[in-house]
Amino acid sequence: RPPSIGSSVIPIINKLQDIFAPIVGNFSKIQLPQVAVVGSQSSGKSSVIEALVGRDFLPRGCDICTRRPLVLQLENRTDVNDGREWAEFLHLPGKRFYDFSKIRKEIQAETEREAGYNKGVSDKQIRLKILSSNVLNITLVDLPGITKIPVGDQPSDIEARIRRMIMSYIKQEACMILAVSPANSDLATSDALQMAKEVDPSGSRTIGVITKLDIMDRGTNALNFLLGKVVPLRLGYVGIVNRSQEDINQNRSIAEALLSEEQFFRDNPIYNGLSDRCGIPQLAKKLNQILEQHIRTALPGLKAELNSDLLTVVKELRTYGEAMESKAVQGAVLSNILTKYCEAFSALVDGKSQEMSTK
Ligand code: GDP
Ligand code: MG
Repeated sequence: RPPSIGSSVIPIINKLQDIFAPIVGNFSKIQLPQVAVVGSQSSGKSSVIEALVGRDFLPRGCDICTRRPLVLQLENRTDVNDGREWAEFLHLPGKRFYDFSKIRKEIQAETEREAGYNKGVSDKQIRLKILSSNVLNITLVDLPGITKIPVGDQPSDIEARIRRMIMSYIKQEACMILAVSPANSDLATSDALQMAKEVDPSGSRTIGVITKLDIMDRGTNALNFLLGKVVPLRLGYVGIVNRSQEDINQNRSIAEALLSEEQFFRDNPIYNGLSDRCGIPQLAKKLNQILEQHIRTALPGLKAELNSDLLTVVKELRTYGEAMESKAVQGAVLSNILTKYCEAFSALVDGKSQEMSTK
């Protein structure tokens, strides 16, 4: 199942994110491609991310579970044995999680540490890396859902706050947007599509995801949504069937869920002609293709930014006297790293890298 398209490029992007996360502010803000999942609360965002990853590890349910942005770096590693994939939090360096149910607990605990116990929301990220032979090489951001009425410890302006938080991710040109809308309400009222449209009016980086195809009103279907007849979207839509709350309560696995999703589309002949727009595997495929194209387009700009950061570091280095030797050494290390990545980017931009070929 692990796809190879783009797998040579994206680990570089992930490495860059690791390097820059602790020192953003010292550098001009470097915008790296990532995928943000946006939508109303309970539209199925966390479920979609879990299905894309192929593992159970996120807090999800009917209530507000996602209360801090979760930045999830998936890294495809052929040296990780099937079933021995592991995860690591940035706030717990060196601690490998092999048991994914413990990841969910740690996300919950870390959410509570920052955002309290009573439904509070914080924009401070949780960063998690998953290393597996079974994932696409992408960075996904799970965001709190748009909500209208404050509950628990939420401030009265909760809706505006969450919108601002989401905006700070999706307004970045280098962010792909998965706009998640449930099929059981009208697409014309979708918060996700409305926000995506605001930051990406041409629709060049928004993919529509329609969830809950299985619980639409009797006699209705999602055909017009998927065909873009209700809200046109340049990159189109993918229809999804995630696990229901009952499935979650009964501990149904993702593998089972994927099978029953497949079954759903087989049993509903109305979707027969649209197989490229139906199901999690199609979403993964579409995402990978678009992401690779997107990175290719963004690379020259990234390279220019890196080069100018490198110049700044080198200039700063020259101003250090001997008294600041240790800082100078740090700077030299940093400039070394930057040089390395500039070279890697050059190779990619100039098309020297074989793996970049889309053939
Ligand atoms: P989020 O708040 O957008 O992250 O949504 P979650 O992924 O936490 O899902 C919210 C609820 O909707 C959970 O109870 C899920 O089981 C349920 N759900 C999500 N997607 C689907 C779907 O495609 N079909 C059904 N029947 N239930 C779904
Ligand atoms: Mg969620």
